[in-house]
Amino acid sequence: MIPVKGYAAPDVKIPLAPFNFERRDVGPHDVQIEILYCGVCHSDIHQVRDEWGGSIFPMVPGHEIVGKITKVGAHVTKFKVGETAGVGCFVDSCRVCPSCEAGLEQYCEVGMVGTYNARDKEGAPTYGGYSNQIVVDENYTLHVSDKLPLAGVAPLLCAGITTYSPLKQWKVGKGHRVGVVGLGGLGHMAVKLAASLGAEVTVLSTSASKKVDSEKLGAHHFVVTSDPEDVKKAFNSFDFIINTISAQHEYNFYLQMLKLDGTMILLGVPPEAPTVAAFNLIFKRRRLAGSLIGGIQETQEMLDYCAEHNIVSDVEVININYINDAYERMIKGDVRYRFVIDMATL
Ligand code: NAP
Ligand code: ZN
Ligand code: ZN
Repeated sequence: MIPVKGYAAPDVKIPLAPFNFERRDVGPHDVQIEILYCGVCHSDIHQVRDEWGGSIFPMVPGHEIVGKITKVGAHVTKFKVGETAGVGCFVDSCRVCPSCEAGLEQYCEVGMVGTYNARDKEGAPTYGGYSNQIVVDENYTLHVSDKLPLAGVAPLLCAGITTYSPLKQWKVGKGHRVGVVGLGGLGHMAVKLAASLGAEVTVLSTSASKKVDSEKLGAHHFVVTSDPEDVKKAFNSFDFIINTISAQHEYNFYLQMLKLDGTMILLGVPPEAPTVAAFNLIFKRRRLAGSLIGGIQETQEMLDYCAEHNIVSDVEVININYINDAYERMIKGDVRYRFVIDMATL
């Protein structure tokens, strides 16, 4: 077994603290990665607070991982020692169901094995990227270009692919008006990616102070959702809305901003069940959809696209002992726009 240092939530709603544990030895198809940076996703907060139910403790969160390969198993063919690599939200899946066969491992019919807060095929709990080492099957590991700053690349492994995948699925591009709701980790990546694909992007935010940033990120318009005059202009105007809000909110409010045949894609996962008024869908034939991260092949495509187009996340790099404060700030919407842990501070 490999000794690993990390940070864990010992139990629900107890602050994260240093935690030593072990990982499996490098198997024939595994790579060992020394973790350099790990992004902080709002899903980490939902899970350490057990807001979705079924959380496993102690929990080492983190699924936006980049680092250097330090060891490869005897049958590994895709990676070499010294290469830069990434790990996202899952580390295994059944590999044989129609979803896995189609490269949609996130929708595995047996269930993907999450990078943390899950159990592997042997039943052992998985531990995530708030740690200095990880061992992962090469088929669930991504190639990362050294061209871009690695701290800014880490959030692409979740925030990047989660926003890229629906933009591709719905073929968003030139001629489309896209509303991005919530300017946090996912939201700011949605703005950058949608703008890069040629869409006309509007940010819909509760934070008036984010207007200047939204333009720098590539948005064309900004709506403060507490300003009725601003909001009036947004009604019946969007082909797509990418909804990244992490907390309970009124879905009907945003549905009315879709034009005929418009689609609102839910990415945020508030713990509370939403209410949707049928009239808001029936009139104007609107659609309500959802999307979950992305498969391995599409994640690699997204990383390559970002390297080609110089797209990274805007990050605030933090020491690992700041993690509990970072969570409090994220809950208040006070993040510009992703916290990333420098694992050298572990
Ligand atoms: P984040 O960085 O904390 O950003 C969320 C943003 O939502 C905030 O910055 C804020 O933006 C807005 N917001 C927060 N509370 C709000 C409220 N009460 N009413 C209205 N707006 C509010 O979070 P994230 O990491 O981007 O994650 C967002 C959500 O996506 C989380 O629920 C997470 O679990 C989920 N997620 C889903 C997937 C997937 O595969 N579908 C993948 C990753 C994450 P403004 O200040 O601009 O209003
Ligand atoms: Zn995430
Ligand atoms: Zn499967």
